[in-house]
Amino acid sequence: MKMDVSAVEMIVRRVMEEVGTLDKSNEYGYGIFDDMEEAIEAAYIAQKNYMSCSISEREKYIKAIRDVILKKENLELISKLGAEETGMGKYEHKIIKNRLAATKTPGTEDLITEAMTGDNGITLVELSPYGVIGAITPTTNPSETIICNSIGMLSAGNSVVFGAHPRAKGVSVLTVKLINKALEEVGAPANLVTTVYEPSVKNSNILMNHEKVKMIVATGGPEIVKTVMSTGKKAIGAGAGNPPVVVDETADIEQAAIDIIDGCSFDNNLPCIAEKEVIAVEQIADYLIFNMKKSGAYEIKDNVVLKELEKLVLNENNGPNKDFVGKSAIYILEKLGINADSDIKAIIMETSKDHPFVQNELMMPILPIVRAANVDEAIDIAIEAEHGNRHTAIMHSKNVDKLTKMAKLIQTTIFVKNGPSYAGIGVGGEGYTTFTIAGPTGEGLTSAKFFARKRRCVLVDGFHIR
Ligand code: NAD
Repeated sequence: MKMDVSAVEMIVRRVMEEVGTLDKSNEYGYGIFDDMEEAIEAAYIAQKNYMSCSISEREKYIKAIRDVILKKENLELISKLGAEETGMGKYEHKIIKNRLAATKTPGTEDLITEAMTGDNGITLVELSPYGVIGAITPTTNPSETIICNSIGMLSAGNSVVFGAHPRAKGVSVLTVKLINKALEEVGAPANLVTTVYEPSVKNSNILMNHEKVKMIVATGGPEIVKTVMSTGKKAIGAGAGNPPVVVDETADIEQAAIDIIDGCSFDNNLPCIAEKEVIAVEQIADYLIFNMKKSGAYEIKDNVVLKELEKLVLNENNGPNKDFVGKSAIYILEKLGINADSDIKAIIMETSKDHPFVQNELMMPILPIVRAANVDEAIDIAIEAEHGNRHTAIMHSKNVDKLTKMAKLIQTTIFVKNGPSYAGIGVGGEGYTTFTIAGPTGEGLTSAKFFARKRRCVLVDGFHIR
């Protein structure tokens, strides 16, 4: 998927002019405000107006969001801006992720009414909007989360105010503008999706604590998830992961190697669902490593080089050095003075199970491999490395009993068997997508129905026709 750079730049300029990002006099509008209070007030008025729209109108608006994002020039623009502004991830993979969010996020069909009938009549349980939702979005999937949350939250009848990450403000503002402009063009109330021109922690705090914001959805690391859960409002927390991969002696090792390297290197390992460490049964470990190297892995065997890598990519707390988050394997190797082939996608090495590369979420295509004596030991190590995040785990095995054992014990929201991690969000795997995977608060793969309140509507002694 190669593009001529000047062609992309021309498109970027044209679309940015069109939506007003380059024209100061048109800097605001289409849902972008100077002040968070104004952004919330506008979304509040929008939602009131939205309540008088029919479901088929909602569907028309959701289609407009999907269509505007899928327009080739917009898709390329937000993907390019996302990679360039944040300095993380890969343009080609951001295209896939943005397209996925626009096509496979469920719409109004997700809202299913329950009915109970009997001698006393009928009771309906309907899914109604909360009102204004505050959604905090990450640097790692900035536009993807805005697209996915907008579709889900608007499908459920809400408006949404985004609190974007300051390091992804350009792409976040642009995505909100594109969505709002498209919505206005098909006659939706103005400002159903809003944000501020200068996102900041202060602005996100105003958003989380505002009385007109009835639900908070946070997609990010542990700190923001903890913060939203203590706001006293209905909160959905989609937090960090550290997905382990177990490979046992019954697996198709050649395919497992391909899948693991593909999943681990997707968008330079930024996705929270991406493979972060491998635990391989001793019996097949050498053959797995051999096949990983055939599939684009560069192996570090020299302990001195490994120490240099640790110094480079870890911070003082053994967490990720932000300068290397979302960077390519080739970039990281270059900084180590290693000129790798252009087809290298991931860096692998053998480590102990306690190594910081295993225990901490790095979000870089660095994949430690830990040997285990047998599959039961491998599962134990994986559970420890997942830290109870309840996020994602992967297993390559043909042994149904062991697959079941790991799924039961690790308790992750997503458990992918015999495939790359991204199959878990609908890329080459069945099911819808989301970029807000709520492990801590338990909604799992969020969609419209999770952004709605259940309301009971009772008619006494009527409409019971059995
Ligand atoms: P981050 O936690 O640094 O930031 C996420 C958002 O929270 C940003 O908008 C940021 O401005 C805001 N924020 C952070 N701390 C805050 C505070 N104290 N007060 C107010 N706002 C605050 O995360 P990131 O680096 O942007 O994203 C990566 C993290 O998010 C990883 O841990 C990844 O696993 C996780 N993530 C999870 C999911 C999921 O669906 N579960 C999806 C994407 C990313």
